[in-house]
Parts: sequence; C-alpha cells; structure tokens
Amino acid sequence: MAAAWVRLCALVLIGVSSGAALAKDKTPSAIVVGGGLAGLTAAYELQNKGWQVTLLEAKPGMGGRSGLATSEWIGNTKAQPVLNQYLDRFKLETLPAPEFVRTPGYLIDGEYFSASDLATKQPATAEALKRYEKTLDDLARSIDDPMNPQATSTLFALDQINVSTWLDKLQLPATARQLVNQQIRTRYDEPSRLSLLYFAQQNRVYRGVSDRDLRAARLPGGSPVLAQAFVKQLKTIKTSSPVTAIVQDKDGVTVKVGSVGYQADYLVMAVPLRALARIQMTPGLDGQHLAALKGTNYGWRDQLMLKFKKPVWESRARMSGEIYSNAGLGMLWIEPALKGGANVVINLSGDNARLLQAFGDKQMVDQVLIRLHAFYPQARGSFTGYEVKRYSTDAGTGGAYLAYGPGQISKYWRLWERPVQRITFAGEHTDALYPGTLEGALRSGQRAASQVQDLLAGKSFDPAKAAPVAAAAAAGAAAAKPSKGGFFSNMFGGSDDKSEKGDKADQAPAKAEPKKDDEARQDKPGFFSRLFGGADKPEVKAAPIAKAEEVAPAPAPAPAPQAAPAPVAPAPVAKPAPAKPAATKATPAKHAPAHKPTHKPTQTKKANTQAKAG
Ligand SMILES: Cc1cc2nc3c(=O)[nH]c(=O)nc-3n(C[C@H](O)[C@H](O)[C@H](O)COP(=O)(O)OP(=O)(O)OC[C@H]3O[C@@H](n4cnc5c(N)ncnc54)[C@H](O)[C@@H]3O)c2cc1C
Repeated sequence: MAAAWVRLCALVLIGVSSGAALAKDKTPSAIVVGGGLAGLTAAYELQNKGWQVTLLEAKPGMGGRSGLATSEWIGNTKAQPVLNQYLDRFKLETLPAPEFVRTPGYLIDGEYFSASDLATKQPATAEALKRYEKTLDDLARSIDDPMNPQATSTLFALDQINVSTWLDKLQLPATARQLVNQQIRTRYDEPSRLSLLYFAQQNRVYRGVSDRDLRAARLPGGSPVLAQAFVKQLKTIKTSSPVTAIVQDKDGVTVKVGSVGYQADYLVMAVPLRALARIQMTPGLDGQHLAALKGTNYGWRDQLMLKFKKPVWESRARMSGEIYSNAGLGMLWIEPALKGGANVVINLSGDNARLLQAFGDKQMVDQVLIRLHAFYPQARGSFTGYEVKRYSTDAGTGGAYLAYGPGQISKYWRLWERPVQRITFAGEHTDALYPGTLEGALRSGQRAASQVQDLLAGKSFDPAKAAPVAAAAAAGAAAAKPSKGGFFSNMFGGSDDKSEKGDKADQAPAKAEPKKDDEARQDKPGFFSRLFGGADKPEVKAAPIAKAEEVAPAPAPAPAPQAAPAPVAPAPVAKPAPAKPAATKATPAKHAPAHKPTHKPTQTKKANTQAKAG
C-alpha cells in the first residue's frame, strides 16, 4: 500500500513537472495584422525571438503605403536611425543623393529658384521665409521633451489652435505664405487642420536635422525593396486576407478573415486607424479609442506621376529634389527615369487633394497638366501617360498619414502605445516622434513586438498615463478659454487682460525677440507674446477650410468629407467555420503551418512584395 502510494506520488510529480516543462517549452504565437512596414517589422522581430508568427495582409501584395517613387529619399542615420539599421542588416544599398537635390527649390509663377537664387532674386520672399523659420524654431524650442509636448498648460493650449491662425499672425508676404502653406500641407496637412502643438512638436523632433540630412540618399526601388527584404525573412504570410473581426479572451486571440479563423496567444494590429475602425472587436474598444478611430486627423496627400518622352523643364539637374510651387502644383520632384522617359511626381496635399477628389484620375491629371503647360508649353506634346495614387480616399488608409488636428493631442496622445489586453498596436500613427514616416512605422513595429514579449512575461501596461494627460487637458482647456484673455492676448498680443493666476509675465510687451532656450521652456505667456509678435485679438477657430486660391482647379466641388467609417459595434465572432482559407493569389508554393487555425491548419504561403496596388 505504502509502495503504491509512493509510486502514485511519483507519477503525479512527474506529470506536474512535465506539464510545467511543456508550458515553458510551448512556442508562443502571435498574429500580425497588416503587411506594411510596421507589421513586417513586428513580425520579423517576434520571429527572431522564437515566436511562431502569422502575418495577415488584406491586399494581394505586401508593403502597404508607399509612394510612386521608384527611388525613395532616405535620411541619414541622424534623421532615420532605425531605417538605416534595417538597410544595413538587409544589405540594401543606397545611392548618395546628389548635392543639388539636398536643399529645397521653389517654383514661383513657373520660374525655378534654388534657395540661394531666391535670396538674390526674390529677397523679400527669402527674408520672409527666414523669419518664418526663425519663429518656428523658437516655437519648437519651447518644447523641452517631444515625448511630452503638453508639459505645461501654456504649451498644452497650443493644441487648441490651428497652424493657419498662427501663420496669419506672422503676416508673411503672399508668395512666402503660399510656399509655406505648400510645405506644411505636403509634410502634414492643410495648416488650418493642423494642431499648432503637433506642428511645434514635430519641428522640435527634427530640430537640428537639415534637409540635407533628410535627403541624404536614394533607395533604388523605393520602400517596396525594404518590404521585400522583410518578406524574405518571414515564414508565414497570408496575403489577400482582410481581417474582419477579432475576439480576445483570457486564453488568446481569434482573428477572423471572413469565415476563416486563426488563433494565437497575442496580436499586433498594424493597420491605419480607418482600417482598424472597420474591424469588429470583442470585447469592444472603450469610448476613448472609438473616438480616436473616428476623430484623429490624417493628412491628405495624393500622388500623380506624369510621364514625358523627355524632360520638359529647362534643366533636369535643377528641377530636382523637393520643389514647392506657389501655383497649385503642390510639391513636385523629378523621378529618375527608372520607369523610362522623364517622370515628374506631383504631390497634391491638404485641401488641394480634398478638392480634387471630385475629379476622376484623368480629369485630375488634366487639371495639373493645364498648370504645367502654362509654364512649360512643350509639356503637352511630350506627355505619354500617368499613374495616380490616392491614399486619401482609400478605405484602408483614409489619408496619407497621421496629422493631429486641433485638440487631438489633448485627447489621444500616445493612446495606441498602450496594449489592450492581448493586443498591441503598431503603425506610423502610433509613433510619438516620427509619425507619417518609414522611420515611425519601423520603430512602432519594434515597440509593439517588444510589448508582446512583455505581455507574455506577465508585465501589465497600466493606463496610469491617462491621469496626467487628463489633468493637463483640463489645465490646457482652462488656459485655452478665450475668456481667459491673458494667455491669448499675450500669445497674440493686443489686450490687457490678465490671466487668472495674474502672472505678471502676462503683461509682457508684444514684440518678436529671440528667446533663450531656458526662457522658452518656462510656462510664461510672455514668451508667447514675443514669439508671436504684436497683433490684434486672439483668434481660436476650429480648423476652417483653407483658402483655395492656391488650388485653382476649375469648378471647385464641395470638399469630400474626411470620412471615417463608423466604428463597428462589437459582435461575437462565430466559432471556427469550416470555410476554405482565403485564396492567396500572390502566394504560391511554400507552405508553413498557420497559427492554430480554428478549423484546420491553413496553408500559408509566401507573398511577393510587388509594389502596392493602387
Ligand atoms: C504619398 C506618401 C509619401 C510618403 N513619403 C514618405 C517619405 O518620403 N519618407 C518617409 O519616411 N515616409 C513617407 N511616407 C510615409 C510612409 O510611407 C508610411 O509612414 C509607412 O509606409 C506606413 O507604414 P505602416 O506599416 O504604418 O502602414 P501601411 O503601410 O499602411 O500598412 C498597413 C497595412 O495594413 C493592411 N490592412 C489594412 N486593413 C487590413 C485588414 N483589415 N486586414 C489585413 N490587413 C489590413 C493594408 O493593406 C496595409 O498593407 C509617405 C506616405 C505617403 C502616403
């Protein structure tokens, strides 16, 4: 009896210890949704750490958003450190950018000016641009920590103001203002739709990074080549697999692609906000997340590549780099003729892009050609064709990239950096420092992958950060109230009103003077009054539609609303359906087991990375 008892105990112990060993040895699994650079990075990093990873991509090709450039600009290690690390790791060669493309150019009423030409030939415009840059730099310097841009109530109040209002106070001459507008809408969105705090924070991030740093090299083939390098490393990719629903519980996540289900321990959501809004989540996201899905602004930017038999501009060498036009052509650059002939890529952004949504591709190209033709009459005869990319109305993106509108930092700052149970979020829009860039996408993929590992290790991501943000929001809202004339009158000059606190700096004279760093960092309204210069009454408007004088496409249709699909009400996901896995046209042959498909293992195939479909 005693011997039997000992034997039983031994068996139980063996059973327990082998069970523990099994749990310990079990390969953790993750599903990554979205095959843009953020998702690819997350999948790659997790796989390298020994995870079993399945990447699901809605489109037939991998790589997500990337432009029409076949030879994308690459910043140096100062501007884009993570991007450069991956280029090195995958041994992807870049070509140094020629000197003449490394500073911006200007196309003013059809005449090309380099920055130095501008100083001699259009000194008033050049001076005004300098004044703008100086004032912007002062504003950027006022932010101590770009990860916490709303650190003071004064800075926080900048989030309630749009960039256009701030520009109005600078009273730039018309041409300079048009060029500045063009640059801002190309990089972010229409100035009137952009939070001044976001603009300041981004300029703080890039402070000390020159145009030369940003356009240091070209990557032949563009970002699809980088995406392809990731794809080659990944074992399990399923293309043409749009995720429709996600259910998470204490045991793991179930992801539905139509009627097909996949299971894993954790999930990385690497899709843009508008795409996320179309996915059913169970349990549903909370009110703040749902509001962010609907309400976060994306910059609009569409691209047209116009193809010519030969260059129609005077000198190919000069018409290169980034050129800002004051005449409704947006920002343009000359694309090396990797696609044959001579190509110019026109970037229509902000409200210019919004207005042109009402036109079909051909009409849109005609509108642009009319403008180009006015300056380069030979353009029509030499024109051979075009390609168009519309990100703004693509349901999968809903805009080109994140660009916080007024009040949105106050509400959503770093929201998507926090996991929601078993889900972590990636994508350019989740990166606090480099949104809207390849760098931001790559960084976010790394962060999301490391958070998944932390979750596995039992780390909790408490939402504590929400408290200071909410407190700052309250303070900022109080400071932003027009009735608290002190802050705004000092910010914009003019009134004698005092702030509630009676800060005597409130009465600082309204004149523009250079600031010392430490002074700029203080929460001193006086700083702003000098920064903004003397002007009339404060004006805090909610993002009005910008003036269309630079747009100029003939009959101006009503701007298309920046539609965000309504968040889908959470609904339970049906149990594994016996449906067939989605056909993956672009994914021939190689098979690897999918992650615990809820019906039966789905055959998984490698995808090609061919340039993203229109
Ligand atoms: C016109 C333009 C020019 C740009 N120029 C530059 C530049 O010069 N330099 C620079 O650094 N950056 C630039 N960017 C920004 C850069 O391209 C993006 O930041 C980056 O590509 C975003 O990567 P991502 O992975 O976050 O998102 P995405 O690339 O959008 O990837 C998301 C993926 O998710 C997929 N998806 C969506 N919904 C689902 C679903 N339900 N199920 C499965 N998959 C889904 C999408 O198909 C997509 O492949 C530019 C962007 C644009 C639009």
